[in-house]
Amino acid sequence: MLDQGLINKYRNKEIPAQKLFIDGNWVNGSGADFDIISPIDGKPFTSIARATVGDMNKAIKSARDAFEKGSWSNMPPAQRKKILHNLSDLIERDAIELTVLGVRDNGTEINMAINAEAGSAAGTFRYYAESIDKVYGEIAPTANSVLGLIHKEPVGVVGTIVPWNFPLMIGAWKIAPALAAGNSIVLKPAETASLSLLKLAELAAEAGVPEGVLNVVTGQGSLVGKAMGLSMDVDVLAFTGSGPTGRQLLEYSAQSNMKRCYLELGGKSPNIIFSDAPDLNLAAKVSAMAIFRNSGQVCVAASRLIIEENIHDDFIKDVIKHANQLQVGNPLDLSSDVGAINSETQLKSNLKYVNIAKEEGADIITGGNQILQNTGGYYMEPTVVTNVSSNNTLFNEEVFGPVLAVSKFKTEDEAIELANGTEFGLSAGIWTSNLSKAHKMVSKVKAGVVNVNTYGGADMTVPLSGVKQSGNGADKSMHALDKYINLKTAWIQL
Ligand code: ADP
Repeated sequence: MLDQGLINKYRNKEIPAQKLFIDGNWVNGSGADFDIISPIDGKPFTSIARATVGDMNKAIKSARDAFEKGSWSNMPPAQRKKILHNLSDLIERDAIELTVLGVRDNGTEINMAINAEAGSAAGTFRYYAESIDKVYGEIAPTANSVLGLIHKEPVGVVGTIVPWNFPLMIGAWKIAPALAAGNSIVLKPAETASLSLLKLAELAAEAGVPEGVLNVVTGQGSLVGKAMGLSMDVDVLAFTGSGPTGRQLLEYSAQSNMKRCYLELGGKSPNIIFSDAPDLNLAAKVSAMAIFRNSGQVCVAASRLIIEENIHDDFIKDVIKHANQLQVGNPLDLSSDVGAINSETQLKSNLKYVNIAKEEGADIITGGNQILQNTGGYYMEPTVVTNVSSNNTLFNEEVFGPVLAVSKFKTEDEAIELANGTEFGLSAGIWTSNLSKAHKMVSKVKAGVVNVNTYGGADMTVPLSGVKQSGNGADKSMHALDKYINLKTAWIQL
């Protein structure tokens, strides 16, 4: 049970300068360390190592050597399963320390982070631990004169690059299935959210993951992330982050060894409210949470609210009421519903989008400003912008902040057109009590996840997979394993 006393035990803990984790050892980066600024108060509280291309290549070599040696890839499945269960136990043992560390680094409210980060990571490792002795190869239905065997083999070295909003959860979504399938990994965390993933590497070693099998290399995306993308010795890239970086990774792949690239990119997810929603008050409350949790720094955030015209004004009043009730504040206080913006750069970018919306004629009806400047940290009011039309910047571009763009519709077809009117297709919400309408909308809205009469919360049993420019390849569920497996056919004449 999370209580303030436990959180306080770790909130000011001294964090030593962090190193790289390569081949089972903590080593210095060859570049100058970065200071880590907490978004809570804008002050540095530790530093991380800045890897160079040479450091990244050492980590990739160590992953390759471990893979070829078979210390993990050939370990009996029951033993690998035990080790991943151990890792889940250790994450649960250290959940509060791990979560507080992550929150100091990235600013997510601890109310959310405790489940979304440590809780989710522990669950993810457990889920894929269980898959290890349950996924089989296949025997093909061939003529009797031959035997066609389909083996599922690990791919080799998986490079993964993750963002700063939910580092542990998203990191676990890549690492756990890749390890379960028998691969070795090099992980590149985001510059502003590396600490909890470095701690995860420590726990993985304690759990029994052999040296070289999980390496963590911190540093600049444009330098060491790029080096990973261009490496001739990385077989798969699993990425979550922005569209422009995703596009670059595809180019790096094309320029090097044509490595498989799985991309989970941005979203501008529509949340469509029909007047026949079963509970409009609940819909308003969930709509507010679906954009303002973690200050909107959520890839599946419902950042576009699309409301049937005849209920628009009343519904918006209700959304504003819920938005204004949210307590924005220190993310390590249990009383805060919403924490900090990850960085000053991100805060400035959010405010820039509010200004653009104003200039383009939309109405800022609540919020729009930086707050709590006296803390030194980066905080922003939940912001609702109405009269957003499909040619407005706010309708089309991902803000990744607490800014809700509201549009209205008259007919179902208009709602579908608005919902599908961006380059993204990550998530969507539909609120209606009409079953036929719900099914029709699920099939017509182009998104990887369509929520009906709820938003978010889809668990490990189902995939998260973008369509259009929101990416490809599933995180979560048994389908995620496919990304980290090669199919090999043995065709045997009998
Ligand atoms: P965000 O806008 O969420 O920071 P980015 O795509 O810039 O999204 O960052 C996500 C991850 O991608 C981070 O770990 C970052 O370091 C990394 N990254 C950024 N630029 C590059 C690049 N050119 N090549 C590889 N990785 C990169």
